[in-house]
Amino acid sequence: MRAELLIVGSELTSGEKLDTNGQWLCSRLAGLGLPVRFTTVLGDDLEDNIAAFRAAAGRSELVVSSGGLGPTQDDLTRDALAKAAGVGLVQDDEALGMIEALFARRNRPMPDRNRIQALIPEGASILPNPTGTAPGIWMKVDRARVACLPGVPRELKAMFDQELVPRLKAAGLAGRVVVGRTINLFGLGESEVEARAPDLTARGRVPEVGITASDGTISFRIRAEGADEAEALARIEPTAAIIYERFADLIVGEGTDDVAEGLVAALRSTGKTIAVAESCTGGLIAHRITRIDGVSPVFPGGVVSYANEAKSELLGVPDDLIAARGAVSPEVAEAMAEGVRRRLGADLGLAVTGVAGPTGGSPEKPVGLVYLGLADASGARSRRLELGPEQPRTVIQSRASKHAMNWA
Ligand code: ATP
Ligand code: MG
Repeated sequence: MRAELLIVGSELTSGEKLDTNGQWLCSRLAGLGLPVRFTTVLGDDLEDNIAAFRAAAGRSELVVSSGGLGPTQDDLTRDALAKAAGVGLVQDDEALGMIEALFARRNRPMPDRNRIQALIPEGASILPNPTGTAPGIWMKVDRARVACLPGVPRELKAMFDQELVPRLKAAGLAGRVVVGRTINLFGLGESEVEARAPDLTARGRVPEVGITASDGTISFRIRAEGADEAEALARIEPTAAIIYERFADLIVGEGTDDVAEGLVAALRSTGKTIAVAESCTGGLIAHRITRIDGVSPVFPGGVVSYANEAKSELLGVPDDLIAARGAVSPEVAEAMAEGVRRRLGADLGLAVTGVAGPTGGSPEKPVGLVYLGLADASGARSRRLELGPEQPRTVIQSRASKHAMNWA
C-alpha cells in the first residue's frame, strides 16, 4: 500500500508558514496502516498542481492533498485534479446546498464566488466539511484514491477523522493499525546506546526499532502492526521488555515523558521535595518541572539567580566566595544548592551555574562548562559538565537542565 501527500500553499513554499498538516497526516495515516512514502509541498500554481496530481495518482494507491479549496483565485485544487484526471468540473448540488445553508446559519448573504466551492471534478464525490465552507473531494483517478482536504488545520483534521477514515475503511485501504511506543533514556550517547543494542536496531527486524536523539535524550521508537491496537501492542511488548531490562537505570519515561517526568516520579515515590536555583538555565528547570500537572507537593519553587548580586541576595552565597572562586565554580554551585534548599525549606536543593555562550568563555572556563550543585540535609556535592564549546546557547541550556534533573 502506497500513500502520498500533496501539500499546497504558496505561504508554505515561501517560508512564511510551516506545514503542520503534513506532519499530522503522516502520523494519522501511519496509525491506519497507510504509511506515507512521499510528501510534496508545492505553491499555488496550476501547472505544478496538475503535474503533481498526475504523478501521485500514477504511482500511489492513496493521495491526500491539503489546501487550495477556498473560493479565491489562488485556490486551484479542484481545477488541477480535474485536469489531471482528464475530466471537467461539474456543480455538486449537495455541496452547493451545504454552502448556502452555512451562510444562512451565519445570517450572511452568500457571495457569488463561493459557488465555485461547489464545483467538483466529474465522477468525484464530496467530503462534507463539518466545520467550514469548503467541502473536500473524494475521487478515483486510475488506480488511486484521491482525497482533497482544506488547508485550515482545524477543518482538515475534522474532515479527515469524520469523513475520510470511514471511506478509507470502506475502500479496504485502512485495514491494519500501526502502533508505536517510545521509550526515553538519558545518560548515554547515541552511539553507546546503539552499541549495546545492535540486535534491536538491525534492519528488517520485526517489530521495527529506531533510535533518535534530542538534547541528550535517546528514544527507542518501536512500531508494530496488527489487526487492532491490542494485537499491535502485544507485538511490541517483548521488545520493550528487552529495552527495560538492558537500560533499566537510564530510562526516564515513555512517550513525551522526559527527564523532568522521571525526576517528579522519583520524588513522588520517595515523598521528597526539591527546590532549584538556576543561573545559566534561566528558569528552564523550573519550567520543565512545572509543565507537569500537580507538582506542588514535590516542588515548592525555584530562584533564577543570574547576576552575582542575585546569588548573594536571594540565596546567601557569600560575596567573597564568588570573588575568590568565580560564579562558575563547584563551590558556588554547592552554595546555591544549599541556599535554595534552606530558604524554601526543601529536602533537596539543585543548582546550575555555567557558561552558556556563545560569548563569555575563557581558557579556564570555556563555553559549555557547567557546574551542578546538589544539597540535602547531609551536605552539598557538585558535578562538572562539559557541554560545549561548539553547541549553541539553547542546546547547552537544555542539556544542562536535563543533566541536573537526571542527577538529582
Ligand atoms: P482551504 O482549502 O481550506 O480553503 P486554502 O489553502 O485555500 O485551504 P488558505 O487560505 O490558503 O486556505 O489557508 C488557510 C489557513 O490554513 C492559513 O492560515 C494557512 O496558513 C493555513 N494552512 C494551509 N495549509 C497549511 C499547512 N499545510 N499546514 C499548516 N497550516 C496551513
Ligand atoms: Mg492555500
